[in-house]
Amino acid sequence: MAVPQIPNLIYYAIPFFIVTVIFEGLVLYRKQPKNYNVKDTFASLSMGIGNVIANLLSKFFVVIIISYLYENYKLATLPFVWWTWILILFADDFCYYWAHRIGHESRFFWASHIVHHSSQKYNLSTALRQTWTGGFFSFIFYLILPILGFHPLIIFTQMSISLLYQYWIHTELIHKMPKWFEAVFNTPSHHRVHHGSNPIYLDRNHAGIFIIWDKLFGTFQPELENEKVIYGLTSNINTFNPIKIAFLEWIGVFKDAFTSKTSFINKLNYFIKPPGWKHDGTGILSDDLRKEWLKNRS
Ligand SMILES: [Zn+2]
Ligand SMILES: [Zn+2]
Repeated sequence: MAVPQIPNLIYYAIPFFIVTVIFEGLVLYRKQPKNYNVKDTFASLSMGIGNVIANLLSKFFVVIIISYLYENYKLATLPFVWWTWILILFADDFCYYWAHRIGHESRFFWASHIVHHSSQKYNLSTALRQTWTGGFFSFIFYLILPILGFHPLIIFTQMSISLLYQYWIHTELIHKMPKWFEAVFNTPSHHRVHHGSNPIYLDRNHAGIFIIWDKLFGTFQPELENEKVIYGLTSNINTFNPIKIAFLEWIGVFKDAFTSKTSFINKLNYFIKPPGWKHDGTGILSDDLRKEWLKNRS
């Protein structure tokens, strides 16, 4: 099979990221100078740079694993033609949805994904606020793709396209897209909800490109006109130190597991169960917060 040359699209997008972050920053600063935080933007950018460096390391063995599965266990050989790109668009987005959802619903994965939610601001730079550790294990949610017969280059290219798509939705400057677009695609409005710490918005809209997965699997929540999004975490970490942003939750989960006087299974559960879970039953999960919020409203 002829394998075309496809460069890493993310590297090519970096100048575009820088120009648009500065442009949006200027617009936001002119609108509401007090509301724009340069330190927060720099923290996000440093998380983005760290992510690119960490991914150089993780990708080294992720490429080996994906290629090994493709060479030895593929069920079909999908050629480099247009319909393969349509198939990978949906297949990758499906995997992304579950990787992202589990990134919120299991604390081991949350310890890495929390980075992306750690800003109390929401702008284009937030899109670049990415994990330094997730690249080493989040690929497990994509292992089905080489087995289905997608060439590793197709898989990695689509992963980059998905990441690039999700860049522009991190903005408050776009209120709503046309109705048909909002119905099918992930949009700034849908993704603002995803970054909300309001109980009704917690763990909702995990979509990458298509919002249809959230509608299909019961995690969709539209942005409500009378419920302004409060960005960040239910307990914010209040730091701009990139090292702390990258590792605070890892320290938290290991501390909870190793210092709690409980069974081995419960210690393990600190890594498996959702964020907020406690072995003595006193933990408050996002589902509890949402139920409470709905009860108070009705
Ligand atoms: Zn998320
Ligand atoms: Zn986001």
